[in-house]
Amino acid sequence: MDEKTATPFGMTLSEIHRKLTELQTAPTRSLGQNFLHDQNLARGIVALLDIQPGDHIVEIGPGLGALTEFLVRPDTRLTLIEKDSRLVPHLREKFESGTTRVFHTDALDFDLRELWGAGPVKIVGNLPYYISTPLIAKYASALSPASRLVLTLQLELAQRLGASHDTSDYGAMTLCTGRRWDIRLERKLPASVFHPRPKVDSAVITMRRKPRDKVRPLDDAVFESLVRRGFSERRKQLRNLLPEFKNDWEKIASALGVSPTVRAEQLAPAQWESLAFTASPKTAQHGAERFDVVDENDQVVRSEFRDVVHVNNLRHRAAHMLLFNASGELYLQKRSIWKDRNPTCWDSSAAGHVDAGEDYLTAARRELHEELGIEAPELTSIGRLTCSEATGWEFIEIYTGQHEGPFQPAALEVETGAFFSLEKIRAWAAASPGDFSPVFLQVLPLLKS
Ligand code: SAM
Repeated sequence: MDEKTATPFGMTLSEIHRKLTELQTAPTRSLGQNFLHDQNLARGIVALLDIQPGDHIVEIGPGLGALTEFLVRPDTRLTLIEKDSRLVPHLREKFESGTTRVFHTDALDFDLRELWGAGPVKIVGNLPYYISTPLIAKYASALSPASRLVLTLQLELAQRLGASHDTSDYGAMTLCTGRRWDIRLERKLPASVFHPRPKVDSAVITMRRKPRDKVRPLDDAVFESLVRRGFSERRKQLRNLLPEFKNDWEKIASALGVSPTVRAEQLAPAQWESLAFTASPKTAQHGAERFDVVDENDQVVRSEFRDVVHVNNLRHRAAHMLLFNASGELYLQKRSIWKDRNPTCWDSSAAGHVDAGEDYLTAARRELHEELGIEAPELTSIGRLTCSEATGWEFIEIYTGQHEGPFQPAALEVETGAFFSLEKIRAWAAASPGDFSPVFLQVLPLLKS
């Protein structure tokens, strides 16, 4: 790169040297500091984010600001997370504003709950290579609001993430990350575009969250456990690594269309999903459930199958439970992407229908057990929502209780969950009501601070 072509925009090599001298500092290897000094590349990496007005961009490890310069726009929010205390004052001085926040912290310790409620989140970073894997696990987790990540990684890791089956790069990381994300290796970067030059080549990848019709409904924990054990010894045949299938292995291999001597890397992602499906406990059919049908005064008239109730908009009953911890934070669950109604929306701690012959409190206790895997604490009723189109023709009894967790959310029902302060939830719901289930938005005003 010719330093004389330096523009006032972007970090050139001479600008990096000048800045480091001004800050009386030098790149620190233990922080994975390799600063990008190619402005066209920086611009190209940022373009992969496809930034739209209203987006919330999060940069991990902004360093001297090589990418950051191209991220600043009046119509977006920007969050910068930098660990190096020597660089933070410079970042604050240069970038902090009404729409840009600088966090001086380890990105692994950053509280992801901070990122909800300020617009659709996209994440970018030339990641410090020493912690790229745990950073991806965190920022691509169910608790992360990110819809897209654009990351510069060590080439070897990028190749593992984007690998096809039957290659030596294909492994547990490919499958576990690829289950929820479409991953694309965009371009390779030579070491020469960084100062100092890293010892390895790099690559830029994009990760886009898969739509629900591309993710087979399965317990992710079952999938991951199988995959990790399957790849624990790559040269071994799968049947020797997955003892739970021992008795039926010939039949299972034939159904998958593979030889019984198959090894982990020979199974394509869809075949791994089929294997995980075989290993998953089969859940009861929803269609077989019966609910009490009630009149406009919430008096039981008769009972009907679930589908009949829903298709005909018959009045029925439900309970919503709100669990608070000792700090007064409310546990919200994020509904699974496979839910028929309001998939991926944040909702009460747990909620569910009252079954035929049940009362509200019994249903509340049962649902807490089924959805969150806990014995119900003492529950107090704080009110009832009247049945209307807005409640999905449900009378809804609302209970509060105290519980510190941990919870074991039901895999196919609940994506994830977390405690949030009521103040945070109110501001978030005001800014992004679409992130919440419509019923929870009616429950929220009933809560006193
Ligand atoms: N984005 C800059 C660029 O492209 O020139 C810097 C990239 S450099 C590869 C990695 C950056 O991450 C450095 O600024 C480093 O201080 C920062 N960093 C290292 N470990 C970190 C961590 N745990 N949390 C947040 N930032 C970290």
